[in-house]
Amino acid sequence: MIIVLKPNITKKEEQAVLKEIEKLGYKPHVMRGVVRTVIGAIGDETKNPSLETLLTWPQVENVIPVQKRYKLVSREAHPSNSVIHVRDDIYIGGKKVHVMAGPCSVESEKQLMKTAIAVKKAGATILRGGAFKPRTSPYEFQGLGEKGLKLLAKAREETGLAIITELLSEEHTDLVAEYADIIQIGTRNSQNFQLLIKAAKTGKPILLKRGMSMRIEEWFLAGEYVLANENPNLMFCERGIRTFETYTRNTLDLSTIPIVKKESHCPIVIDPSQGTGRASLVIALCKGALAMGADALLVEVHPNPAEAMSDGAQQLDIEAFEKMMKELKPFAEVAGREL
Ligand code: PEP
Ligand code: MN
Repeated sequence: MIIVLKPNITKKEEQAVLKEIEKLGYKPHVMRGVVRTVIGAIGDETKNPSLETLLTWPQVENVIPVQKRYKLVSREAHPSNSVIHVRDDIYIGGKKVHVMAGPCSVESEKQLMKTAIAVKKAGATILRGGAFKPRTSPYEFQGLGEKGLKLLAKAREETGLAIITELLSEEHTDLVAEYADIIQIGTRNSQNFQLLIKAAKTGKPILLKRGMSMRIEEWFLAGEYVLANENPNLMFCERGIRTFETYTRNTLDLSTIPIVKKESHCPIVIDPSQGTGRASLVIALCKGALAMGADALLVEVHPNPAEAMSDGAQQLDIEAFEKMMKELKPFAEVAGREL
């Protein structure tokens, strides 16, 4: 930690800070400038109290961490890109960009099968679909639960697609892990650390959505809970954040693509469906995401969006999805990838 003292403090005030740093278990190194003094404090932050309490001292201007708070997700810990093994034919973070497509919610066998067959034919490799739905209102469709998971498994059997589905609460961890090839942790649970630990312990690949009001550092620290629990199969998913803008449901922050690539070795997945809330914007944002180097896309597709039980306005119909898959190819190639 670096402790910056206020200008023109007395020797006695400086001594008091140095004494406190030692008392907390750190070794202080004083660097005197012309106007102000800076102290470098060295010690093990996992064993000693945090030096951030020094911020309450009148003679201290700032306390700045030298090291990044996230460790295992950082590129320093793992310089090469992590490639997530979902199945022997599906690796996320490699040359092939994977498209995870399907309905927001699993609603019926007919709806799911129709979507699964169509998205597979158009080139998707992973079927998405929520069985446990995190609805803002308790009066809205909450998902089919286990029945939805069974339908996903049936769709996997019939099409060969892998399955991604959301884990909503700790009590369903084993159940969801039994069916899912990838466990999705939604925006509302992105800092539910006990859930993250439980999900990590299943050993399944984890797709961690960004919290809707989450800073990137907080997202990385949430990811740290997965890696620290012996599960290296983590991917981050940007799904839009809350801003003052109301034209779109959320503001899809595509700057997370180069940021995650720079700071972390984990793959980055883009979800422009939750990201915009508008089907008409999804294709353009997928193109942008691929050109910027996204490792996978998560896209909502419904055979009849007008009748969807959730997120109708943002789901592509099958025709639009087929068009999208055709149009995306050159954008993946620009980034040196294939679709
Ligand atoms: C979803 O994927 O349907 C979903 C609920 O996502 P999020 O957690 O990003 O809102
Ligand atoms: Mn949705």
